[in-house]
Amino acid sequence: QMVRNVYPNLMPYTCSLADLPVEEMKQALGRDQVYKLSFNENPLGPSPKAIEAMQKSLQQLNLYPSSAGEAVLNKIAAKEGVRPENVILSNGADEMIILVAQTFLEPDDEAIIPEICFVQYLASTHLMGATPVFSPMKEDLGIDLEGALQKITEKTKVIFLCNPNNPTGTAIPEEDLKAFIARVPENVLVVIDEAYHEFADGDGYASSVELVKDYANVFVIRTFSKIYSLAAARIGYGIGQAALVDAVNHVRPPFNVNSIAQAGALASLDDAEHVAASRQSNRIGKELLCKTLDALGLPYLKSQTNFVCVDTKRDGKEVFDRLAERGFIVRTLAGYGLKSSLRISIGRPEEMEAFVQAFKEVM
Ligand code: PMP
Repeated sequence: QMVRNVYPNLMPYTCSLADLPVEEMKQALGRDQVYKLSFNENPLGPSPKAIEAMQKSLQQLNLYPSSAGEAVLNKIAAKEGVRPENVILSNGADEMIILVAQTFLEPDDEAIIPEICFVQYLASTHLMGATPVFSPMKEDLGIDLEGALQKITEKTKVIFLCNPNNPTGTAIPEEDLKAFIARVPENVLVVIDEAYHEFADGDGYASSVELVKDYANVFVIRTFSKIYSLAAARIGYGIGQAALVDAVNHVRPPFNVNSIAQAGALASLDDAEHVAASRQSNRIGKELLCKTLDALGLPYLKSQTNFVCVDTKRDGKEVFDRLAERGFIVRTLAGYGLKSSLRISIGRPEEMEAFVQAFKEVM
């Protein structure tokens, strides 16, 4: 057999309509307009300053990009109160998860992953031939840190956490996370994926970047795909102590982040106004959605992100199909055992107005 069986037990991840590019969604549904609410994208698009910088960068496509991306590293470091040697760029947060797995996981190792969590931790653990060990969720579907601690064995190398979590949208309270990290053995790496960091502003959420200073085994992952709306450009980053970052740098391909993405990221970091506008738009859209869910009496998880996880109390796939008929594509969560739940990304306020009308019709 030539091909490695890399994904022996990958969660049943239904490759449906929800994973198609918008144009293909339109074709599949035979509609001129579709509302893609399945990828947690920022509907406002990138900062105009980023687009301008990216267009300018096209003039130097003959040249390799900066390997480490020093300009972007420096700007992130200044913003986050760390040093440039504490930061490393990746081709999206997805690549950072893979790089971390490649750096720290060997076939005999175990990686602890919350049961209802972003699927790339599982995929990357399998990629390395290591063993995923699922930790349970709390009854309220928050990440159960105590449960994760109990899963630690002498084989545990990495614990993956997502804060705020995808697909639940929930945040881990700062105090709980601090107490947890203090109890994790020093030889176990705690990876905290903060892809939705910039949307979070409550429920006790705090970034773990501060903890990097005190803990050599904490590594934080961020992305420019969400609030900065550069998902197509593919750029993310990690923050950790210099020794960790250095180790990951030994695995990182030399030109993993292209110069267009670097230019876009750099300019994005300068446009605080656009970030504020994106947060504001998200807040309005999310409030609109949640008000409707309240009125319909449907339970949903309090979201610190740009999506909401709702229990439709019906077969989620059926609700998905009926929304799709009306041009709204959301995400089913049956692969996580949440058969009646949907994850709905927040679109622009006017898109959410249209969505809640359709949602009321199908419910
Ligand atoms: N982590 C989480 C929690 C995510 O939700 C996503 C995107 N869906 C990613 C990482 C990957 O983001 P990127 O586009 O930066 O690869």
